[in-house]
Amino acid sequence: MTIRSDNDVRKAEKAVYDKARRERLGQEWIDHSVSWIRANREKHRQYCKTYRDKNSEREKARSRDYHQRLRQEAIAAYGGKCVCCEELEWPFLSIDHVNGNGNEHRRKVGRGNSFFNWLKKNNWPADFQVLCHNCNQAKGMGLTCPHKVK
Ligand SMILES: [Zn+2]
Ligand SMILES: [Zn+2]
Repeated sequence: MTIRSDNDVRKAEKAVYDKARRERLGQEWIDHSVSWIRANREKHRQYCKTYRDKNSEREKARSRDYHQRLRQEAIAAYGGKCVCCEELEWPFLSIDHVNGNGNEHRRKVGRGNSFFNWLKKNNWPADFQVLCHNCNQAKGMGLTCPHKVK
């Protein structure tokens, strides 16, 4: 024979209670909702839309935050400033593949969050550096950065 813990008993009781409630309220509640929606179609649509919008706004903000935090963490790990011009404003900064095969690398590990997560997981490998977008652009064009041509 199995000894049931208090927890099991509570769970079983709750299941019975839930089922009874569903049976008692179920159809009535569903009918009520359906007729409300029918009578307030426009309001219901608006309500759903507001809910969806609010949620997706929140979702978007959350993933934006996460992405920016990860980005800032990576930039800080690589010294927090452009290795060429010492730009410090993190929105201007990017992580650059020192040997210039960033594209190939991105194909392998992905971009955005997966790229930053990969760096972090690999303990910030040494063949990356911080460059600001200006210096990165010059490098991407195969030029010596104008900062260095003086
Ligand atoms: Zn720079
Ligand atoms: Zn530069």
